[in-house]
Amino acid sequence: MAFERWPECSRIIRDDKLLDYVARSGGVGSAPRDDSSPRLGLQPMLDDFPTIETHNRAFAPSQPHSEPRTTARPQAPPRNHRRLSLKTVPGWMSAYALAETYRPDKRVISATELGIWRALQSIVLAVGLTLVWLLAFEPKIGINLMWSVIIPVAPFLVTVAPGLWRNICPMATVGLLPRLLGFSLEVTMPRKCVAVMGALSVAGLYFIVPLRQVLLNMNGPATAIMLVAAAVVAFSMGMVFQWRSGWCTSLCPIHAVEKLYGTSPAIELKNARCRACQQCTDPCPDSTPGMTPTITGPTWLEEKIGRLLTGSFVGFVWGWFQVPNYTGLVGVDEIVNTYAWPLGCALASYVVFEALNVLFNDFPKVRGVIARSFAAGAVSTYYWYVVPTLFYKHTGMLPFWFPLTSHVVTTTFFVCFLVLRPVSGKSWLTRPKSPPTNASSGMAAASV
Ligand code: SF4
Repeated sequence: MAFERWPECSRIIRDDKLLDYVARSGGVGSAPRDDSSPRLGLQPMLDDFPTIETHNRAFAPSQPHSEPRTTARPQAPPRNHRRLSLKTVPGWMSAYALAETYRPDKRVISATELGIWRALQSIVLAVGLTLVWLLAFEPKIGINLMWSVIIPVAPFLVTVAPGLWRNICPMATVGLLPRLLGFSLEVTMPRKCVAVMGALSVAGLYFIVPLRQVLLNMNGPATAIMLVAAAVVAFSMGMVFQWRSGWCTSLCPIHAVEKLYGTSPAIELKNARCRACQQCTDPCPDSTPGMTPTITGPTWLEEKIGRLLTGSFVGFVWGWFQVPNYTGLVGVDEIVNTYAWPLGCALASYVVFEALNVLFNDFPKVRGVIARSFAAGAVSTYYWYVVPTLFYKHTGMLPFWFPLTSHVVTTTFFVCFLVLRPVSGKSWLTRPKSPPTNASSGMAAASV
């Protein structure tokens, strides 16, 4: 009977032309074809089903097809709710998919602004790919570019304008590709998983940074492998988890430092990554004003990791600079020395941090100042050592007055910026609107 075949019919009816064709050819029912009554074949079915909803319109079957509609059409889903998926795009990397990636979202950011951000993201991604190539095939240039240009700029950037880095980071671009191209599973990460990822992020940071002294600072291909491995993990996580939760706000080792340094950004930028906020992370580090490592979810592990990072990082950085670069083959003694210094000093500074917190337990404002002072201490310590070293490396000279001047300038700047200056209360990026959640647009909202 025609009734049983109706689902098949509803799938193929997509526009007026196709509907006309179905009607004129007698429909999918068993009634004979009759040109004077073109809808005869469909009529038995249409009487059973008062309204047929197709992709973006409704057809009122009780009205003759040639007459004007009297039934109100439902509103088409907002454009933003269309997304690519394997069902709509034949092939992930089709030209349409790429066009979709660069589609502006009017609710979040203007088309012009998004175009500029997309251009910047593409340029930075190209720089990242070039860097990997240089590290692999021109290690001397690649190592210089990586460790003496890009990395030294990063702490300053994530302190003053973390949103800028968050909008252009090439690893974020790679991690978000599955979401933008429409083949991410968009899973919301379970709370326990968030906590474990945060712990792994800090563990990765404390493992990779000392590795520089025994391997990465001297070995371009090893650094290239590390970056490619990180990109593969970011991409894979992006295939599973919603928006930034797979990499940028969980597993990325730099993210812990972003939260530590970026507590009081000078500027808040528009979010050029998330089309609409799906609450993928709670709290969202991009959208939380005055973000710190101690603003965490409710789990014990998240809370402890946040405090551990805040208290230990200044000691970690100082200890790391006490270790020389080991060239050639390194033995167990060198490896132990490489990790013992930063980790031992990290433990010492963490003990001091906790002691101060116990002392000022009843003064939350003072505890805030202590946390920001430890952050300022960490970034100041980094530039204390790095600026004179890089000046000498790039110019081949080091005037006697330069080290002291650079110490005073950088330390004064970061202490003023993070501790003495009133907290800006800005977030790194402006949170995009959440998708509508009412019943009428619920299906559409799920696919933003
Ligand atoms: S703005 Fe929303 S969607 Fe984007 S990272 Fe933050 S919580 Fe996730």
